[in-house]
Amino acid sequence: AVSREMHPEDSIVKVGSLEIGGSGFAVIAGPCAVESYEQMSTTAKAVAAAGAHGLRGGAFKPRTSPYSFQGLGLEGLKILKQVREETGLPVITEVVEVADVEAVEEYADAFQVGARNMQNFRLLTALGQAKKPVFLKRGMAATIKDVLMSAEYIAAEGNNKIILCERGIRTFETGTRNTLDLSAVCQFKQLSHLPVMIDPSHGTGVRDYVAPMAYAAAAAGADGILVEVHVDPKEALSDGAQSLYPEQFAELMKQMKPFAEAA
Ligand code: PEP
Ligand code: MN
Repeated sequence: AVSREMHPEDSIVKVGSLEIGGSGFAVIAGPCAVESYEQMSTTAKAVAAAGAHGLRGGAFKPRTSPYSFQGLGLEGLKILKQVREETGLPVITEVVEVADVEAVEEYADAFQVGARNMQNFRLLTALGQAKKPVFLKRGMAATIKDVLMSAEYIAAEGNNKIILCERGIRTFETGTRNTLDLSAVCQFKQLSHLPVMIDPSHGTGVRDYVAPMAYAAAAAGADGILVEVHVDPKEALSDGAQSLYPEQFAELMKQMKPFAEAA
């Protein structure tokens, strides 16, 4: 069970060799999507050099429009595995359907469940039967309790390696892509023992808002952040406007040092 009542101590979830939860602060960075070996490898080396602890990149992209880039699929997973070997960074990538669970588990260190699939209960059940950790993102219209019930679907099958992620919700505000609900950290921590991360990239949709929200996440007591970084954001096939330039990410890591060092 994911509730604090059943398990008073904070849990720590290991993604490869990276421990998420406890006293550390984990920074997982990388592009929205795996676009090519070159793009992934260059971005990965830049975030590794800046001090990131983990690598992200989507091979299966659940896009709002069916005409947008949908990801490289299996080829993307292979690129991630190769780059993981080159950098030594554990890799997290999204899984969008039950049929892909096995392949994603073979190539990545953790499964990401995206906002659009947070209540795909068949997928959650399948992930509960898998071995690797699950990074569960809040649906854009999901309450805190909805997220915890989704986590429960995974835990009910025996997989307790779950990380919760606040990535912004839909409100009337249009100045940002989503409204980042930082109070989610407090609520998740009060109600559950699971580690909690913040995604300031999807949470704002605006590159220049990412660092301030990352610092705020650390101040709020989050266990880490998931950040989009692209070697050339202007040319990104998805989410370029919210992707940091590698230099911006390096600066963010410098500022985050008091938190990130403990990871
Ligand atoms: C992503 O992490 O690139 C992504 C698609 O996120 P979300 O599911 O939160 O929109
Ligand atoms: Mn994205």
